[in-house]
Amino acid sequence: MENVLIVGSGCAGLTAAIYTARANLNPLVLEGREPGGQLTTTTMVENFPGFPEGIDGPMLVMNMHKQAERFGARFEYGVVTGFEPGEKSHRVEIDGAWRETRTLIIASGASARWLGLPGERGKIGHGLTSCATCDGAFYRGVPVCVVGGGDSAAEEAIFLTRFASKVYLIHRRDELRASKIMADRVLAHEKIEPVWNSVPVEYLSDDKGEMRALRVRGVKSGAESEIGVKCVFVAIGHTPNTAPFVGHLDLDENGYIIQKSGTRTNLPGVFAAGDVADHVYRQAITAAGQGCAAALEAEHYLTDLEA
Ligand code: NAP
Repeated sequence: MENVLIVGSGCAGLTAAIYTARANLNPLVLEGREPGGQLTTTTMVENFPGFPEGIDGPMLVMNMHKQAERFGARFEYGVVTGFEPGEKSHRVEIDGAWRETRTLIIASGASARWLGLPGERGKIGHGLTSCATCDGAFYRGVPVCVVGGGDSAAEEAIFLTRFASKVYLIHRRDELRASKIMADRVLAHEKIEPVWNSVPVEYLSDDKGEMRALRVRGVKSGAESEIGVKCVFVAIGHTPNTAPFVGHLDLDENGYIIQKSGTRTNLPGVFAAGDVADHVYRQAITAAGQGCAAALEAEHYLTDLEA
């Protein structure tokens, strides 16, 4: 029987691990498919307080990991494949083997959504990415495109103008979903060219397997055309990693865990922290803050359980 099982080893999970380990709760942290979470796919993090010169993303999570280990947190690799809630403890299936825990902190994050076009997986890293901050600097002086019309797409398009010669913004409608201030900035930018009412249909690679163009189809006209770009940045939102908890935890219409008060979920002893429950802020520091809150709430819950 575990006291605290933490699912996820990004900023939220690792902060929960530091706090519960320091409280002598001997937490077990489950590192899933993307150990370290989304920060491992970024380069410089300039807005995490305490690092005036910025800090390398993977270094920041590695430091958090070491800090949690120093206080006795245990780490295992594994993916949650099933979940059975109970009254005073919960059963969690990890790669087919069931474990039991008094408290569960779900910090499994959210994963970037992809378009689902043929050959997509194999093209990631060869001119196809979901992270402008990670890969933008590789595309200096060449045309690129961003797919999507939300705040992420707008932010990425603006960021990419620092490097690219031109940024096409491909959106399936003729109006951006992004907030007005971001949309205005995008539309006023001389390097950004919106391609309205268009959906990507095919990635076109050169003979070295690198991106050379994106084929798009006009939603209204049905006509297809090729846009010559060296990289496609997909920014069509994220999917929270909540699949094993469907039917047990209250989720919103997009699958994010609903926090009832603080980080508490609808189930006693189950807490949610970070991007798995937050589609609004999605910052390393807010995820870390929620990880801390979840740890403190789990600690109080365990104290009450013993009383
Ligand atoms: P989002 O708001 O859900 O926008 C996703 C965009 O992708 C939409 O424009 C959508 O089109 C488009 N899209 C979705 N599926 C598509 C598909 N299969 N093919 C083509 N286009 C597709 O996601 P987000 O931009 O990642 O933002 C998520 C949340 O984080 C939002 O609340 C946002 O405000 C927030 N955020 C804030 C900031 C900031 O304030 N600095 C930065 C980033 C994100 P439709 O518009 O037609 O649905």
